[in-house]
Amino acid sequence: MDKCEQCGAPTRSGFIVERDGARHLFDSFECAIFAMAPACAHCGCRILGHGVAGEGNDCYCCDHCAHAHHLALGQPDASPQPPAGAEHLGM
Ligand SMILES: [Zn+2]
Ligand SMILES: [Zn+2]
Repeated sequence: MDKCEQCGAPTRSGFIVERDGARHLFDSFECAIFAMAPACAHCGCRILGHGVAGEGNDCYCCDHCAHAHHLALGQPDASPQPPAGAEHLGM
């Protein structure tokens, strides 16, 4: 029987995710996300949407994290301020 490559659980209903020519077998989306989704450079949560590109290879889950990370680093914030009350509610 096939095994999930993230948690090692045997699976009959797993699915393959292919990236850069490499195939990965998972038993659940949770495992696939944990193994393959990028982590937010600010809060560390997995980025399930398009994310927000930051400096270099940094990626953020939302505008709020991108903004907060720039503040934490003491860098000027190049991204536009989100209007008040338009905070993302998270996933
Ligand atoms: Zn798994
Ligand atoms: Zn974040």
